[in-house]
Amino acid sequence: MTDRIGIMGGTFDPIHNGHLLTAEYVRDACRLVKILFIPAANSPFKLEKKVAPAHDRLAMTRLAVADNPYFEASDIEMCRRGVSYTSDTIDELHRQFGRRATFFFITGADAINALPSWHASEHLLASCHFIAATRQGTKLDMAHLREAFGSLCERHIHQLTTPELEISSTEIRARIRAGRSVRYMLPAAVADYIKKEGLYR
Ligand code: ATP
Ligand code: MG
Repeated sequence: MTDRIGIMGGTFDPIHNGHLLTAEYVRDACRLVKILFIPAANSPFKLEKKVAPAHDRLAMTRLAVADNPYFEASDIEMCRRGVSYTSDTIDELHRQFGRRATFFFITGADAINALPSWHASEHLLASCHFIAATRQGTKLDMAHLREAFGSLCERHIHQLTTPELEISSTEIRARIRAGRSVRYMLPAAVADYIKKEGLYR
């Protein structure tokens, strides 16, 4: 038996309750022993965008997961130079954990539909499982995925309907800038950190 470990990757600018709810729901549904939250240093999807400093995003992620014994924040992408490719991260995790771990990368169905365009996507899909968290109604484009990955996609891509909170980091940043309330959208400890450090003003 290997340990089933979930990976929640993102910019986490800032981390919010949508991320946390999804992670906890998937952990329980898929019997994962833990979830690693990995803030991207330089997301390939956000290279042009201005994001909060990596150390702040990591600090907020640490605060957000502190009260859940199954959650852990990881600085694995922050310790690496260059663009944060998921396939490099999974390779590194395999080196760290050895053969005892199986990794489950948790992400939205829309991101999975775009998986064929990710860096080293075939190698990536061979080295971990994907949990496509979908809301009621949204579907994986299995025909497109099968074309790109063949039979591997049935074995390594799993769809799970999850309850979804309509929260995005973009909306939280905009609300903070406008002086509006973000209470209950993200953990209080994260909101306090944002206030103390004057982020997103
Ligand atoms: P931004 O608005 O800056 O793009 P975001 O809220 O989408 O931020 P990301 O850091 O881009 O957050 O997302 C990281 C991961 O969390 C992605 O896999 C994304 O699909 C997922 N995610 C984002 N928002 C939610 C939500 N409300 N519920 C569940 N999962 C979410
Ligand atoms: Mg996003």
